[in-house]
Amino acid sequence: MIDSHCHLHDSEFFTPEEQADILQKCQKVGVEKLICIGTSHEDSLKACEFAEKHDNVYWAYGVHPSELYHSAGPDVDKATLRTACSNPSSRVSLRYTSSYVGTFAGSLCAHLPHHDLVAIGEVGLEYHYYEDRHDEQIKLFEEMIDLALRNDLPLIFHIREAFDDFFSVIDNFHGVRGVVHSFSDNKKNLKKALERDFYIGVNGMATYSTLPLPPLERTLLETDAPFLAPVPHRGEKNNPSYIPDVARWLAEKHQTDLKTVAEVTTKNTEKLFDI
Ligand SMILES: [Zn+2]
Repeated sequence: MIDSHCHLHDSEFFTPEEQADILQKCQKVGVEKLICIGTSHEDSLKACEFAEKHDNVYWAYGVHPSELYHSAGPDVDKATLRTACSNPSSRVSLRYTSSYVGTFAGSLCAHLPHHDLVAIGEVGLEYHYYEDRHDEQIKLFEEMIDLALRNDLPLIFHIREAFDDFFSVIDNFHGVRGVVHSFSDNKKNLKKALERDFYIGVNGMATYSTLPLPPLERTLLETDAPFLAPVPHRGEKNNPSYIPDVARWLAEKHQTDLKTVAEVTTKNTEKLFDI
């Protein structure tokens, strides 16, 4: 099995000891690969570092829409940005504004090591928490799609209460591949996502809600750890070794066995991310 979406690299949530322990547990329970997902420039580089240190760990580069609302650092001028781009390991604290991200992401392609980089994500639209500046979210999202297409990479979408805009943005591009991570919307939008050949990321949230279920052939397993622990671990800090709990729940829902769920979702994940 593969955890197609986790944040195990994030030292705000996991100590190095916990990380090592979890990776060992993963092997024991049959979670053979995992993908660490970036949510900002700095965080993506941390995911990169973590992937380089561990076998069968991959990473994704992404600037999450919520980054537009964080004021972690001062606005940076273009010269500082260029320096940061030419030295990917520098820890320049960037406050994202959509006009910067384009320049930034463009230079990033040329400089980042592509080793183990399997996708652009998580990127998208978050309207649940943020009621304003949707135009900026869209601009940032479009730049991230452009980055993925220029590098022939799939995308990992974070879309919350924003599916109408999501589809109208996506339909302006050709050849977009990807997964709608942590899908939490209605049947109509699930159908529309499937019509566009996207995969759907199913995690612990599904185990305690009544979300529409995608066909197994389009499903990827994920944890979104440290968030959204599946039943029976609800309320705990989530981690990738809980993937079998999501798989078991899916097997029951699809009236099949764990082996089938593991095989089909692993094949889907390997195909999308070329791993
Ligand atoms: Zn995530």
